[in-house]
Amino acid sequence: MDEILGRVLRNAVWERLDMLTELANRADTPSLLSVARSELPRLTEGWRSLLNAHQPDQKGNCPECSTRWRQRKAPCEVWRAAYEHLVAGGLAPHPSRHLQPAPVEAARRGPAHTSVRRRPAVPAGVS
Ligand SMILES: [Zn+2]
Repeated sequence: MDEILGRVLRNAVWERLDMLTELANRADTPSLLSVARSELPRLTEGWRSLLNAHQPDQKGNCPECSTRWRQRKAPCEVWRAAYEHLVAGGLAPHPSRHLQPAPVEAARRGPAHTSVRRRPAVPAGVS
């Protein structure tokens, strides 16, 4: 059951991201402005919430990424990804990135993502 729920949640998030990408690529200016005003604050709040959970503790470890047996030094992968996407990627000119997804991203989304999308069974109450 946890596996199914996890798959449904991941699929919903992927679909939301796909929808936002589609809007960014195809929506007219008034629609884009409306979406930006509603979605950008949600995205920034989401990043803040995620990053707060991954703030280093007093020993300089990420409490979310560390386990009882293995401590993960900050900055963890979440912080690295935030920096890459929000700071480095936002400031550095990478024209090819806008034309196609990064290889790592495409690989990550590969078969698991597409196979989930073909499955119409979604439990009621989760959208
Ligand atoms: Zn972390």
